[in-house]
Amino acid sequence: MDVTSIIDSLNPAQREAVTSADPYQLVLAGAGSGKTRVLVHRIAWLMQVEGLSPYQILSVTFTNKAAREMRERISDLIGFAPQGMWVGTFHGLAHRLLKMHWRDADLPEGFQILDADDQLRVIKRVYTALNMDTEKWPPRQAQWYINEQKDEGLRAAHIQQSPDPFTVAMLQIYRGYEEACQRGGLVDFGELLLRAHELWLHKPALLAHYQDRFQHILVDEFQDTNGIQYAWLRVLAGNTLGMTAVGDDDQSIYGWRGAKIENIQNYTHDFEGVTTVRLEQNYRSTATILKAANGVISQNANRLGKTLWTDAEGGEKLSLYAGFNEQDEARFIGERIQDWVAKGNMRSAVAILYRSNAQSRILEEALLRLQIPYRIYGGHRFYERLEIKNALAYLRLLMNRHDDAAFERVINTPTRGIGDKTVQRLRDTARAAQQSMWAAAESEVENLPARASNAVRGFLAMVSELAEDYQNLGLDELTDQVLEASGLLEFYRREKGERGQTRVENLEELINACRAYDAPDPDSPALPQFIDEAVLDAGERQAESDEDAIQLMTLHSAKGLEFPLVFMAGMEENLFPHKMSLEESGRLEEERRLCYVGITRAMQKLYLTYAETRRLYGQESYNRVSRFIRDIPSDVLEEVRLSANVSKPTSFAKKATLSDEGTGSGLALGQQVKHKIFGEGVILSFEGNGANGRVQVKFVNEGTKWMVLQYAKLQPA
Ligand code: ATP
Ligand code: MG
Repeated sequence: MDVTSIIDSLNPAQREAVTSADPYQLVLAGAGSGKTRVLVHRIAWLMQVEGLSPYQILSVTFTNKAAREMRERISDLIGFAPQGMWVGTFHGLAHRLLKMHWRDADLPEGFQILDADDQLRVIKRVYTALNMDTEKWPPRQAQWYINEQKDEGLRAAHIQQSPDPFTVAMLQIYRGYEEACQRGGLVDFGELLLRAHELWLHKPALLAHYQDRFQHILVDEFQDTNGIQYAWLRVLAGNTLGMTAVGDDDQSIYGWRGAKIENIQNYTHDFEGVTTVRLEQNYRSTATILKAANGVISQNANRLGKTLWTDAEGGEKLSLYAGFNEQDEARFIGERIQDWVAKGNMRSAVAILYRSNAQSRILEEALLRLQIPYRIYGGHRFYERLEIKNALAYLRLLMNRHDDAAFERVINTPTRGIGDKTVQRLRDTARAAQQSMWAAAESEVENLPARASNAVRGFLAMVSELAEDYQNLGLDELTDQVLEASGLLEFYRREKGERGQTRVENLEELINACRAYDAPDPDSPALPQFIDEAVLDAGERQAESDEDAIQLMTLHSAKGLEFPLVFMAGMEENLFPHKMSLEESGRLEEERRLCYVGITRAMQKLYLTYAETRRLYGQESYNRVSRFIRDIPSDVLEEVRLSANVSKPTSFAKKATLSDEGTGSGLALGQQVKHKIFGEGVILSFEGNGANGRVQVKFVNEGTKWMVLQYAKLQPA
């Protein structure tokens, strides 16, 4: 493999970073300037020129998807798959380490990963055990507290007692939670990192082994590492391993989850002779898009300061569309995508980005209506769903009868006559005897009242029977059996309407996922590997099927990615910037960086959309256009005007179109009107034709009402 092909597609600054002989490097550069590209090429360089084997390289990426892409790009570059290279997220790598060294980490071999939901459940149990007041100290607050401490590398024992009642309570819960997790072999996300760090500190021989093994560490998206992640890297690097970190302070968007932008400065202080390379040319976006991005980010005060320019000429202006409501917004986006596809473009070149996961449902509905295939990426959509979590809990219980979190989740799901009282009794027995709930159920089953006793006995027998088959069946067959035998599938089949239907479909999708599952380690049982990945990798998997589909994702999970056509939906005050960020300037700056991340995902064309009224979380709100829109220089932004055709009602597109009578009445969507009794309002929607035509009006004092148009006698206000 010849060296020039590694470097000839790089500009001079990139080349300097890729070929440097210095042990420590920092590449600090704006979006789309080739940071990730530098990492990939540097890995190839280290192998081809410096003679490192893949085995000696550790590379940290931000998502599992990015890790897979990195492997592919390296293979393409060097001509073979880099077997033995460690590439993954911090969590993924820590998990791998703990799996290999569970004994040294003081964990049971089959330890379970807790996601946020499971973690909260465990915390609530600690509350009950300690008789703590959930009103005074909400469990979510305790969860937040615990995670924050772990991100800083602090265990309960490290934290100074203080007379402050909040700290006293939190510490007590943290301690109880630590004990419960240790007893049950449960490991939350923060714990993965903390244990992996402690492994270095407490097992010097093990650390020495890895320090001998790895020669170079590479880190992408360095600006979003938190305290414990950086500490882990720093200890591993010691003073023998080389390190290349790339990042962009303007794209730091995880401060709310403990990420520390200061790690960039810490790195340059903690290691001697760090060379900083700056990349200034953007290869991703048109000049127009870049100008908009620079306009937005320049409003932030705390920046390390960078310049970013492009060779690319002009480009189409950004388009701003004011949807009349969220349905209209979604329909607009769907239709633009139809146009795009009609011109022969790929759907996979399109992304819709939004601030909150809850925005996706309406967008999904519009896409379904227009029959545009889509995938949701990175959200915790699939594996976070209730029915899926229930199904996975059954599978977890099969692997390990002493998994209390799983036991509690499914003992009465679907309902089988085991009430709260019985569960509480099992919990008490388990605690008193220091055993698992499964063991408690076995010992207590005969002493329960007849009805409960029968039900518990049935449950135990059912799980035991399924567990007998567990080793002999394929993953999909097993899951299929579990869904049938547990009654879960039947339960959701009986749930009425859309929702039950979707749940059944999701469970079917789970069986599909099991069938398609390709275990990383083919020599050990697939189920535990599948479960661990399902929790770690939540939702990312779907993005891999072959169908050409557009992608939906939150702005947070779009980091590092690029798409020719991008929509940023919900550009409204209170939604984006999120209303939680408005009070603190630091958080507002983080929102603005998130906006910068969003804009810089676009290569050719960017649409910004917002809705004048929006129903979200069951509430209707009227929001002004996002302040970030005002930061975009006006010469690169154009507003999409509503043609008469476009202004027709949208929420009922299928049922009816706006009647001529409706428009003939001289009224239009969004218009201010007056009603004799209800007073002033604004028109939200029309539905139906002629004599049956109805109009929806939001009145200032009377709320939203549907009225028959011909009787409403609305007057323009
Ligand atoms: P982000 O900050 O969004 O993570 P990044 O700095 O990691 O961006 P890359 O994703 O590595 O940027 O690169 C952006 C795009 O520019 C990619 O499509 C990449 O292939 C292309 N690119 C980078 N450098 C060059 C170059 N020297 N010549 C041609 N294309 C390049
Ligand atoms: Mg990148």
